[in-house]
Amino acid sequence: MELDTIAAISTPMGEGAIAIVRLSGPQAFEIADVVFKSKSGKKLVEMSSHTIHYGHIIDPKTNEVAEEVMVSVMKGPKTFTREDVVELNCHGGLVSVNRVLQLVLNAGARLAEPGEFTKRAFLNGRIDLSQAEAVMDLIRAKTDKAMNVALNQMEGRLSKLIRSLRQEILEVLAHVEVNIDYPEYDDVEEMTTKILLEKSKMVQREIEKLLTTSQQGKILREGLSTVIIGRPNVGKSSLLNALVQENKAIVTDIPGTTRDVIEEYVNVRGVPLRLVDTAGIRETEDIVERIGVERSRKVLKEADLILLVLNYADELTKEDEKLFEAVAGMDVIVIINKTDLPEKINLSRVKELAKHHRLVTTSLLEEKGVDELEESIASLFFEGTIEAGDPTYVSNSRHIALLNQAKQAIDDAIEAAELGTPIDIVQIDLTRTWDLLGEIIGDSVQDSLINQLFSQFCLGK
Ligand code: GDP
Ligand code: ZN
Repeated sequence: MELDTIAAISTPMGEGAIAIVRLSGPQAFEIADVVFKSKSGKKLVEMSSHTIHYGHIIDPKTNEVAEEVMVSVMKGPKTFTREDVVELNCHGGLVSVNRVLQLVLNAGARLAEPGEFTKRAFLNGRIDLSQAEAVMDLIRAKTDKAMNVALNQMEGRLSKLIRSLRQEILEVLAHVEVNIDYPEYDDVEEMTTKILLEKSKMVQREIEKLLTTSQQGKILREGLSTVIIGRPNVGKSSLLNALVQENKAIVTDIPGTTRDVIEEYVNVRGVPLRLVDTAGIRETEDIVERIGVERSRKVLKEADLILLVLNYADELTKEDEKLFEAVAGMDVIVIINKTDLPEKINLSRVKELAKHHRLVTTSLLEEKGVDELEESIASLFFEGTIEAGDPTYVSNSRHIALLNQAKQAIDDAIEAAELGTPIDIVQIDLTRTWDLLGEIIGDSVQDSLINQLFSQFCLGK
């Protein structure tokens, strides 16, 4: 199948000033040559692969210079898409990069659909499906840590593990075949069952391990859901603002943001937080009144971390005590705010209530204590299994769903084998496990699924 040449604007991660117009396809060099005039006078088709050239983009109709560019020439198949690729690095910001794209399109390229570059890489066998999805996560990744997860996956860690698990299952299935072919040998059946159980349990363990890291992966991608609670006027909004001001806010496109609470995304010492100020918009009502008992319970229940704010300059109230009850058993950091004012709070009672929770004192007015709070948040996060555990995170919800199904299938196979079910019945569950794992790396997906996945990509990737 001969593909056409596509083009789109592709801005590299972490570099705001430079924008790239990327072309990929059999006519990439010819099309770029229509609009590019190199300093040396040489045409791009004559250049050797993986070289960079300085020159200008000109409008062929008027011969006007549109933009000063550095052009990278990369010949397939040693490129991301495995096709010929040209990258026009523009320095003049978005307006001029748009103009360059327009000229390239006039010269015969087609505007790439979202995710089409990655789709080509996939279709040309450069990457498998889980890697392609990792690219998508990478595009969406909002913090350094989430980026590392996506990168690991791109390197094919998950694919490699899944492949080896499938290989194990395949070996068992081979044994089962032998068994079905020679049913008269009793010891063959015994052997097969023994091997089947051994290998299946190993696969089961590995799938379970992947699933336990998936929650952490989700946290890294979407942020640790952090809810700020406290009586009116204790300083919740001030706390939210302090954390947002000190840390770069993360722009997000994650859906489901509720408007009756305020949400902000920040990166605190490498820990991505989705901060929720429950009192949010006005200061008069308490959280339960404001968003209703059910909703506030739900917000609390879904939280990964609670920041409970108390007022140092006020007596501890029943409401404060109730808040402690409401968050029992959760990860809580207790913040005693307004330490610049005279002490009124009963500190020993607070310590009693806080028990094993961390306790931090702040004066948000004088910008004191925020560092300690951040330290506390970071250490809480890294004390867990997040960093120490298996570096192969599963952070993609489609992968998680498939892993859950695969686990169910392998559980069924093991249970059946242990009950002495005929081996050709057990085989069905094993084959199903194999298929489901295959779907994660795209070995058994239909076209429609592929198209659906790639259409989610951002333009230019
Ligand atoms: P919220 O109702 O819990 O969101 O509280 P706010 O953040 O809106 O703060 C209520 C009031 O307390 C505001 O006037 C803040 O300026 C003030 N405030 C916040 N933190 C401090 C602090 O550390 N010391 C003092 N003296 N005032 C503070
Ligand atoms: Zn507030």
